[in-house]
Amino acid sequence: MSFKDLQLINPLLKAIEEQGYTIPTLVQQKTIPLVLAKKDVITSAQTGTGKTAAFALPILQLLFEKQDAPKGGKKIKALIVSPTRELALQIGNNFKAYGRHTNLRATVIFGGTSIEPQIDVLTKGVDILVATPGRLIDLHKQEMVDLSHVEILVLDEADLMLDMGFIDDVKHIESLCPKQKQILLFSATMPFKVEQLANTILTQPERIEVAQTSSAAKTVGQILYYVPKRNKIELCLHLLRNEIKGSILIFRRTKFGVDKLEQTLIKNGYQVETLHGDKSQTDRQTALKKFKSGMVNILIVTDVAARGIDINELDAVINFDLPNIPETYVHRIGRTGRAGNSGMSYSFCSADEKNYVQTIQQLIQVQIPVEEQHPYPLDPKAKAIVHKPKQSGSKHKKGRKSQASKKKKKRWY
Ligand code: AMP
Repeated sequence: MSFKDLQLINPLLKAIEEQGYTIPTLVQQKTIPLVLAKKDVITSAQTGTGKTAAFALPILQLLFEKQDAPKGGKKIKALIVSPTRELALQIGNNFKAYGRHTNLRATVIFGGTSIEPQIDVLTKGVDILVATPGRLIDLHKQEMVDLSHVEILVLDEADLMLDMGFIDDVKHIESLCPKQKQILLFSATMPFKVEQLANTILTQPERIEVAQTSSAAKTVGQILYYVPKRNKIELCLHLLRNEIKGSILIFRRTKFGVDKLEQTLIKNGYQVETLHGDKSQTDRQTALKKFKSGMVNILIVTDVAARGIDINELDAVINFDLPNIPETYVHRIGRTGRAGNSGMSYSFCSADEKNYVQTIQQLIQVQIPVEEQHPYPLDPKAKAIVHKPKQSGSKHKKGRKSQASKKKKKRWY
């Protein structure tokens, strides 16, 4: 199937060609006709499947076909809500690239940066607005955003919106748009609350599933290392010195873990950047830019910080800590070996993570090959180290924190 078969108009076909895309991806083949037919759509697809173009192209086409006369200025006709700033920027760039031969205008608004330039662009008028929930609601309160002409609403990475506590904001944003509108919901996974949201706001949606699961697990080379927890850093250094080269994404479970590994790798002369929830917006963007441009070749991340970010052409993924959710393993390794390149994933498993290997293997239906020839083998009889809370020694009484302070507690990612 070609993009022409999808009945796309010439200004879009030209831009697609300039992007170097030859055939539509599966999610594009399935989603584009439904969006053009003005259906509500729920698509389960993760980043890397080409899902952004799957909604951006038909939205541009629908808006292009019924452009208003310029009188009264441009009105926001399509609103894309995205959980993270990086993702919003990526989506905005895609709209600009695909819409370059149309006169449709797209802009991106997100928090953490000065609001005035965003207000300036909005005042001039845009057709397509990509926004993170917080800043959008802010600007709406200030009456700088008029959502009363929205015809198409896209909720991207809905499951991540849920994880980040944005679901109520999303519902609020939906209620600010006209009742009569087309809604497209994209989500990598479909937790109950996302289903619930979909059931309340979408109208007879068509469902599309693009499972990357098995294919990623079969095309990416996978190696498993059983290693004591205390030796993981040494094993990582050993592999970086002797085996793993090129652009490498390393996953750790916690922010603390990310920082600790970063310090060790820098001490050992490696060029490293990190992404996690505590970093400022500018730092995160700089880190991503440096990694994408090849200035540094190692990026250490937590799952949530890396979700939805388009990091392509990776040579290797290291699962420094194994994820406790098996689907997360598939998402992680699916980032390497994209677009026909064969990638490698290296997973470190300590005694207390052995259960995770079992559930991952059940999901992917592949026995991950184990590398036994390495300097830090795990004693097969080693027991999981369980950190028990101290019986005595703490001068503080249990539960000393007030409910209010517990609520304020920062999330760990
Ligand atoms: P996404 O899943 O939207 O983050 O897209 C992942 C990557 O695939 C992006 O870098 C896109 O530029 C690229 N892409 C999207 N559609 C196609 C296509 N039909 N052919 C080749 N690359 C594509």
